Amino acid sequence: MKKPIIVGNWKLNGNKELINKFFIPLNKFLEKYYKKSTVVIAPPILYAAFIQHIFSSNKRNFFIGAQNTDLHSSGPFTGEISPSMLIDVEVDYVIIGHSERRLYHQEDNESTAKKFYILKKENLIPIVCIGETLKEKRDNQIQEKCKNQIDEIFKICGSKHAFNNSIIAYEPIWAIGSGRSADPEEVQRIANFIREYIELKANSEIKNFFIQYGGSVTPDNVKQLISQKDIDGFLIGGASLQLQEFTKIIKIINQMYS
Ligand code: PEP
Repeated sequence: MKKPIIVGNWKLNGNKELINKFFIPLNKFLEKYYKKSTVVIAPPILYAAFIQHIFSSNKRNFFIGAQNTDLHSSGPFTGEISPSMLIDVEVDYVIIGHSERRLYHQEDNESTAKKFYILKKENLIPIVCIGETLKEKRDNQIQEKCKNQIDEIFKICGSKHAFNNSIIAYEPIWAIGSGRSADPEEVQRIANFIREYIELKANSEIKNFFIQYGGSVTPDNVKQLISQKDIDGFLIGGASLQLQEFTKIIKIINQMYS
């Protein structure tokens, strides 16, 4: 059975005080769970080194993620962070194409696919966010939207194995931060479509590929969501900032997997 992967996206939240309060108990809690599930926290990137430092002499039971990367490795790109810098501070997973990056930073399918390509080249694990707006959902365009986002990655990577060692986070944009999660059975239908589409293109030779759901995941809805066959884990925003909520979610997922 696949190990579920749970990623906390802290977005533009947190400070040293929260980090000090959050990570030591989280790490202790994960002592019991880390072998059965992969847990990643993506804080604002400047705190990655601080977290790395806290655990420099203790075993770390979670991975550090980033919320973005630049395409370049160095040079005159003010304000940017490169994949090699992320590796330097022990980042393993990188979220790309989040709807908030698309909305506020003019990122699109092409720039996201280019980031995906660079991350794979650097042996970082991309978590690429795809999903529809409410209007696209109402217009029955969910599959078409996801397909276009996936196709751009196949095109830029130029390989039928592009999605080996990667994660797709299916995140209906209208569900993010809204308190209104998508219907689990509908998520299953889309996740199954995504998996079959990618497997078909890859002649079924796909390895280490995960599909997450993201959008208002809480301890109350996670059980039904993780029961769906094609959901391998979650990308979690709000609830990942609350230690109690986040650990409850991890516990429920593990109960379902054992
Ligand atoms: C997200 O930011 O990717 C997300 C899913 O947020 P939330 O869990 O708060 O909806």
